[in-house]
Amino acid sequence: MTDYLVRAISDRANVIGLACVTTALVEEARKIHGTSRTASAALGRAMTGGLLMGALLKKGQRLALKFEGNGPLKKIIVEADNDGTVRGFVGVPEAEVPFKDEKLNVSGALGSQGLLTVIKDLGLKEPYQGIVNLLSGEIGEDIAFYYSESEQIPSAVGLGVFVEPDGKVSAAGGFLVQTLPPTEVKMVDRLIENIRKIPRVTEFFRDGKTPEALLADLFSGATCHVLGKTPLFFRCRCGQERVEKILVALGKVELSKMIDEQGKAEVTCEFCRTGYHFSRKELENLLLEAGRPAEA
Ligand SMILES: [Zn+2]
Repeated sequence: MTDYLVRAISDRANVIGLACVTTALVEEARKIHGTSRTASAALGRAMTGGLLMGALLKKGQRLALKFEGNGPLKKIIVEADNDGTVRGFVGVPEAEVPFKDEKLNVSGALGSQGLLTVIKDLGLKEPYQGIVNLLSGEIGEDIAFYYSESEQIPSAVGLGVFVEPDGKVSAAGGFLVQTLPPTEVKMVDRLIENIRKIPRVTEFFRDGKTPEALLADLFSGATCHVLGKTPLFFRCRCGQERVEKILVALGKVELSKMIDEQGKAEVTCEFCRTGYHFSRKELENLLLEAGRPAEA
């Protein structure tokens, strides 16, 4: 099964439900970053959460999630676009913690104390930013807490990543449900009951079930309409030109120092580990650019 996301809306249009499978892209991220089992689960949950949140935005908009905790993983950074692409990395990929209740302990790795920062680029002059304390460090609960605290939108978020003993990611996915005003108590009670009955997300996908089946369970007993399906991918936004811009932005002093001390520059993208090499000549050209006054 390739990765994709499905969205549905209740017939009264006040409940939106999203479900997605992300196994392939989480496995890709695991290979890129060489993450430990728990770090893979943490990064996978955060990337899946980012994609679900991104799907609630409008075309061309995107968001970034920054989880900073007091655990050995230190942080998780994720950027997701409304078009179904995501990239991410963790602070310490090799960080590992003992199991908790015979399961990977994501909150133990990230830490249960810290902050979740959500930055939304909505195409306006200034990006929108919301910050909340981590609720548990389990990622899904933290995202739901962000919505209720920062945006006053009641939400339920379920995220799961199954990592095999050899480190391979064999199942990943999640769901997000939001109720919009006017909220009907009966509908909310039914949703809560439905969410309670759903097995762990990873069990669901390991059984070979689809995101459509997950949505059907979420909306069980209520009429809903499937709105569409979006393929999902791990995709980085970096490139030679972007890295050049970052080097130019360092300024003349830093660039001159780099040329004098190292005579070259090696830049590695944190999101996808792609390496960019700059020779002395190339750096000297960038130095000329840095010396130019900014274009009006
Ligand atoms: Zn990159």
